[in-house]
Order: sequence, then structure tokens, then C-alpha cells
Amino acid sequence: MLRWECALRFLWNIAHEQRLSGYARLTGERKFPSAFDQINELTELRKELDWLSDVPRNVCAQLLVELDKAWQYCFSRLKNAPKWKRKGRDQISLIESHCKVWRFGDSVIRFPKLGDLRAVIHRPCEGRPKTCTLKRDGDQWFATIVCEIDVADPISRVEPIVAIDRGVVNTVADSDGNIVRSPRFLENSLRQLSRMQRAVARKQKGSKNQEKYKIRVMRIYRSVRRRREHFLHVLSHDYAKSHGVIIVEDLNIRNMVHGVSGGRNSNQKSGLNRGILDAGWGKFANMLDYKLRWSGGALVKEESSYSSVTCSSCQNIDKRSRSHQSFICTSCGYQDHADVNAARILKQRYEHRANRSVLLGEELVPEAGRRTKKKITNHFTVI
Ligand SMILES: [Zn+2]
Repeated sequence: MLRWECALRFLWNIAHEQRLSGYARLTGERKFPSAFDQINELTELRKELDWLSDVPRNVCAQLLVELDKAWQYCFSRLKNAPKWKRKGRDQISLIESHCKVWRFGDSVIRFPKLGDLRAVIHRPCEGRPKTCTLKRDGDQWFATIVCEIDVADPISRVEPIVAIDRGVVNTVADSDGNIVRSPRFLENSLRQLSRMQRAVARKQKGSKNQEKYKIRVMRIYRSVRRRREHFLHVLSHDYAKSHGVIIVEDLNIRNMVHGVSGGRNSNQKSGLNRGILDAGWGKFANMLDYKLRWSGGALVKEESSYSSVTCSSCQNIDKRSRSHQSFICTSCGYQDHADVNAARILKQRYEHRANRSVLLGEELVPEAGRRTKKKITNHFTVI
């Protein structure tokens, strides 16, 4: 599998280069090879390179399809241009998208040319299996099986409404007054992590021994990442299950880069931790979004400027109302947790917009439903 990974990395880079040199030509002579063109040329290439023809053809072809998708995203300005794949940095997945050629049983996954791989199939797969992906995460391999099931259109729900605001230092506050403190996963592992990193630095560069400790460092990161993801899944599930509309702040990219509108505690949010928080928050919003869609609800993004310094009782805007975690209005004396107050502001803005749109006869919540197929992703560990 490692050999295949290397071969596919080569294939990605060479196909990427073909595209780049095609685009780099003069305006009239530009070439835009499609996935179809590149897959056609694959046969010739595989004849010449034994180590590439060792990888199943479908898996090679699917990689070229992925590259094509990456470029399409780039052209429609949804993402940045695809990049070179570098060893040790970028991940390569072995994707088998033809459901007839792979199979899975009680504790095995049969992949073309690899035969039976022992795997921990820890839950039954619902629906029709579609694709099987093998992916390495450090020293472990995982199989991802995507299944498709038919579901009825969910009944559209518009209530209850709640707004969620992320507070300072790993907390989430909602407009009902609940405050959830996220466990400090990374912080809790920092001691262990720095001990291992020191060990890596002490060992001889490039030695087997150093490799061993590098793997240990990576395992700690992996465990932190998984615990954080698990926590976010549970939290987003709880919210999505019991609400129809959830409002979150609109993460404006400009706001994030140029510090903070409305006097949010920028000092406490700066640095590395803020990067992690932002990434985690984006992921959380994403999870809320698709979980709500499944149940007929909707995620709404609301503008968050001045939300942290506006009083949710009298709408007075004053920077002095806020000090750290608490909010005391300088005008009417209203007291609350600062993040709960901010969440209430978000909810009020949404309700204000909703009332206006009822008058104008507009639909505010994007219509849920029209989803007849649902894809479920299952992850299994390959031993
Ligand atoms: Zn007030």
C-alpha cells in the first residue's frame, strides 16, 4: 500500500504538471486536459512504468478524477488551485469507486489486487455501498466506506430557534443561556507532547530511533484531533436534534484576518490557539449544517459585528459594558454572561430579519428537503 501511495503521488504530480504547462501557454494555445483525456493517456503510461501498472487501473483513474475535481473547484472559485503532493506532508487516498470490485465481510475488506485485508468492522453498513477508500493516517490505515440510502424528504422545521456564539477560550454559549466548555484536549496533552518532541530532537537525525519517536508525536496529535472531533460531533448532534433553526455568526474572512470588529477580546483569541479555534468552529458549523438538513432544519448565518458589545435588553452599544466574561450594560444595568448576551443579539437579529421578510413575503430559511439520497460514511481500521 505504501508503494501504491508513492506511485499515485507520482501520477498526481505528473498529471498536475501536464495541466499547469497546458495553462501556461499563450492565450490562444492553452490546453485544458480533462480527466477523460488524462485517463486515456494512462494506458500508455502504465505500459512503460511497471510500478504504476501495479496499482489497479480504477484507482489510478479515480485519482485523475480527483485532480480534475480539484481544478473545477478552483475554476469556480470555491477553493485554491490544487498543489503538488509532497512525501510526508500530503495524504494520498486509494479510492475504488466501482462497487462491484471491492467487498467487505465480517472482519475483512477485499480490495482489488490486495486481496483480503483484516479490518475492524465495528458497525453494520446501512444502504448500498458505493466507494471504498484506503487512507493512511500516520502509522495506521483506514478504510472509508460510503453508502447511499434512500430517505424520504424531511419535514421542514423552523422551530425552536437558537443562536450559538463561540466565546473566548474554548467555550460555546447559546441564546438559551447554556454554556458549554470544550475540554482542552491539546493543552492536556502538551506535557506529553513536548516530552516526545524533545526526544525526537535528541535522537540522531534520520535514524530508525528518531522515526519511532516521530510516530509517537504524531499519535498524540492524532488522538487530540479525534477527541476534539468526537466532542464536536456529539455537541452538534445534540443541538441539531432539538432545534429547527440554529444561528451562528457569519465568519467573515476579513473579520478574521484584520482582528476584530466590535471589540471582541482579540488578545485572548490571538496566536496559534485562535487558528485552532477558527478551524474547529468552521468544522462545528459544517456539522450543524448537514445534521440539520437531515432533520429538515437549517443553519443560518447572521452578521456578528458589535454583537459582543450590544446590550440584548436595551440595544445600547458600549464597549465598556463588556469586561472579560461578564456583560453589564452601562445604560440599563442588564447583566449576563458576555457570550450568552452575544448569542441573544444574534438571535434577535435573525428574528428581526424574519419578521421583515414575513412582511415582504420572502423565504428566509433556505428550503430544506429535496434530498432523496443520503450518503453515510463509515470509517474502519485496517489491521
Ligand atoms: Zn442595556
